[in-house]
Amino acid sequence: MSTKAKIATIGQYVDQEVLLEGWLWNKRSSGKIAFLNIRDGSGFIQGVVAKEDVPEELFALAKGLSQETSIRVTGKVRAEERSPIGYELTVTGIEVVSRTEDYPITPKEHGVDFLLDHRHLWIRSPRQRAILKIRAEVIKGMRDFFDKNGFTQVDPPILTPSSAEGTTNMFQTEYVNGENAYLSQSGQLYMEAAAMALGKVYSFGPTFRAEKSKTRKHMNEFWMIEPEMAYVEHAENMQIQEALVKHTIKHVLDNCPQELKAIQRDTAPLERVVNEKFPIITYAEAVKILQEKGHDFPYGEDFGAPHETELTNHFDLPVFVEKWPANIKAFYMQPDPEDNSVILGADLLAPEGYGEIVGGSQRIHDYELMKERYAEHGFDESYNWYLELRQYGSVPHSGFGIGLERTIAWICGIDHIRETIMIPRTLYRLYP
Ligand code: ATP
Repeated sequence: MSTKAKIATIGQYVDQEVLLEGWLWNKRSSGKIAFLNIRDGSGFIQGVVAKEDVPEELFALAKGLSQETSIRVTGKVRAEERSPIGYELTVTGIEVVSRTEDYPITPKEHGVDFLLDHRHLWIRSPRQRAILKIRAEVIKGMRDFFDKNGFTQVDPPILTPSSAEGTTNMFQTEYVNGENAYLSQSGQLYMEAAAMALGKVYSFGPTFRAEKSKTRKHMNEFWMIEPEMAYVEHAENMQIQEALVKHTIKHVLDNCPQELKAIQRDTAPLERVVNEKFPIITYAEAVKILQEKGHDFPYGEDFGAPHETELTNHFDLPVFVEKWPANIKAFYMQPDPEDNSVILGADLLAPEGYGEIVGGSQRIHDYELMKERYAEHGFDESYNWYLELRQYGSVPHSGFGIGLERTIAWICGIDHIRETIMIPRTLYRLYP
């Protein structure tokens, strides 16, 4: 019996006969030869069936294989310079596991709605597979950074009683005892509690926002990584974000060369990100840059996509925009001691037009100031526990949230974040 092999590591078996278990992605054939593009989940390889070298039935079987038929293929591995993976398979046997008729996604062009309706199949395509592979490596790279730097992963709840930031954008459900419950739109407040117990923590989980956004950067379900750190202040918070982003990109460049090639990502801008210091500008400076570039943009508003694009094109690197007006940011952000009207927080904007991928800040740790904020916002007792964190052993602390899908969209250089997750949940789509 032939050794079972995987395409990703097929180089170990040069000149040996192996068994591949996979699917026929597509094929080309003439009267004398059939080229089978075989996939096995770990990669794609070309299998060659030459009429003169194989029994007649095998050649006929190869020629008749339809797209996405599942097959077990035996063959001899050959080094082949012209192959994108460096190897080809000289096929000696094919067993059909399950024949496929009329696979809906053919090599011709399809509209995006059609592809999204068939997302459960679309993910088999080389490009979509590569993106999901890169997603897995982005996650691995991020975890690796946190694990190497003394962070502990903590999992905050997904069902929450209400939100201190308001519940208008939250998915509501009824809890088992009849109370209103909401799907988490951020674990941050809980992560602050975790940081006081474990020092440096991060969460990594799904996040739900019921907002009716129809942009290429918003989904209603996405994944967020939320680190929170005791005794870390604003400047160090940004340094940690920069180190995380650099580490993650380097990890992907080192571990996904095939996938980046498969999606035709120009890696030069990513290499630049790994090697250069990220600029930091204040919100006020950002507004000035926008105005100088002809935008009619008043101080005190949040940036829209064109503004973020303008700013990132200006720097051509990820850029921190810090010290935002307090009144357009969340209640828990620490005011700047030098100017109370702005906060010690920053958004990190990704280059090449991608815009905000991280929102972070130093959090208010002073009990009296937090009590004032509670009074201003009229919080009820469901948030007493959060205030208590300021009562018992409060320390300066900071944290941030980095959106996984926006980070992947940037690293992959793709237009819409819906392609960065297996099954996207967007405004008009809950299928498949
Ligand atoms: P935006 O202003 O772009 O809607 P936000 O200010 O609401 O984002 P935060 O609440 O700070 O974002 O969330 C932290 C990070 O989570 C963002 O920087 C982004 O990477 C990601 N994120 C936020 N909302 C979404 C969404 N709807 N879909 C995908 N990712 C998101």
